[in-house]
Amino acid sequence: MGRVFIGLGSNQGDRLTAISGAVRALSTLEGVRVVQMAMIVETEPVGPPQGPYLNTVVELDTARAPEELLRALQDIERQLGRVPSPQRWGPRVIDLDLLLYDDQVIQRPGLSVPHPRMHERGFVLEPLAQLAPDAVHPILQQSVAALREQLASQRSRPSSPHPIELAPRS
Ligand code: ADP
Ligand code: MG
Repeated sequence: MGRVFIGLGSNQGDRLTAISGAVRALSTLEGVRVVQMAMIVETEPVGPPQGPYLNTVVELDTARAPEELLRALQDIERQLGRVPSPQRWGPRVIDLDLLLYDDQVIQRPGLSVPHPRMHERGFVLEPLAQLAPDAVHPILQQSVAALREQLASQRSRPSSPHPIELAPRS
């Protein structure tokens, strides 16, 4: 069984419905167990101008191999209405990224693990540090907590994501 972390993001449509739909879809996959989920945070977009994101990270315990898991993530993205964007890092209904898979290092066309930009992204490191501060990045050989601190100290002004407040259902 592999210990896996998935990064989730949404900045189009009903973002909270997309995030929760993705977590539900993950939990119904055969050979996948959702272990825990971080707080959902609202974050400023990276890339072209676009609306703010909701982001979180979930931990999975899985019998699926990395490539097979990535295909399942892409199926879920399509099911939730993601359409291919002409723009790199453009707005999307849902984004599911395979961040870490045990201590595996994979570099193949279409799949890089650890996710190549995870250590530069507060919207990944913040929720990931909630779940697994001691997990070690197998290339950088640093803990998630250390990577998060380094990123925070590089910034000239604090810009860590903040938890969203959920309005009560009426
Ligand atoms: P990003 O998530 O960086 O904003 P996209 O979601 O548009 O970019 O990129 C999707 C592409 O990234 C897919 O074609 C997929 O094959 C590739 N990819 C490579 N490594 C990973 C990974 N670890 N997790 C998710 N997608 C990955
Ligand atoms: Mg992606």
